[in-house]
Amino acid sequence: MDIKWVPGSNDGTWYLGKQYEPDYRGYVVRTQADENDVWEGEKWYVYYWDFVLEGHEWAYVADTLRDAQMALERITPKGHLCEVFISPVLGHCPERAVYVTDNGEGEAGERLQGILLCDPHSRHVMPKEKRVPVHLWEADYRSISPEDSAIVGERLSPAMASVRRGAYLSVPVVWGDDWTGYRLRIVDPGSVKVGSLAVFGKGNAFRVESIDKVPIPDDPTMMRFNCNGGATYLATGGRAVAILVQE
Ligand SMILES: [Zn+2]
Repeated sequence: MDIKWVPGSNDGTWYLGKQYEPDYRGYVVRTQADENDVWEGEKWYVYYWDFVLEGHEWAYVADTLRDAQMALERITPKGHLCEVFISPVLGHCPERAVYVTDNGEGEAGERLQGILLCDPHSRHVMPKEKRVPVHLWEADYRSISPEDSAIVGERLSPAMASVRRGAYLSVPVVWGDDWTGYRLRIVDPGSVKVGSLAVFGKGNAFRVESIDKVPIPDDPTMMRFNCNGGATYLATGGRAVAILVQE
C-alpha cells in the first residue's frame, strides 16, 4: 500500500493519507475517558472517508491501534456496485452496494462473501439471508475484490437492442435502443414520482402521469404507474423499479 499513516496532533488519532487529499481514506481515534472521568478500557474507533457522500462515516470498533488501522486499510475506498442481474435488456444493477449477504465460513475458516446489494434491492433480494453493511464486512474480514464477487463473468450493461418503433401504439419518451442523455437508476417503488421515466421490459421509458396504490389483499405493496400514451407499469411485491434520469 503506497498510502501512509499520518499521526494527528495527539497520539490518539491517526489519519490514513493526508486529510482531504484525493487519496485520503479516513482516520482511527482512541476512546477518551467520559465526562465523569470513567475509563472503560482502550478502544479504537474507525471512520472511513466516503467518496460519494464526501464525509466521514463510522465503520468499526477495534481493541488496538493496529487492528483499527488494518480494518480501515481493508475498506475499499470507492465501494462496490450492486450485483443483482436485472434482465438481459437492462443488465446488472448500476447502483452502489450498501449491504453484502454473509455466507458464513468456508472450509479454511475464511468468511465467505455473499452477494452485494444496493439499498432498494436489499429489501427483496434474498430476504432471509443475513446482511451486513459493506464497509463493516470489509473492516471485519477482508477487502472485497471483483474476482471473488458473486457475478460470474463480466458485469453486463444495458443491451440497447434495436426496438421496432412502428410496433408501438404508445410512443415512449425514450426509446430502449437510445438512452443518450439518460442513465439507469434503480429505486424503491415509493420513490417513483409523477414525471419519473419508468423503464419497461424492452428498455423503452414512459413518463409517469399518475400513480395508484392498488388494493390487493395478498400484496399490499402493489402499485400501478399510469404512463403517457396509456402505458401501464405494475410494481408488485415492493420490488425495485428501473427508471431513467437525465445525466
Ligand atoms: Zn441493485
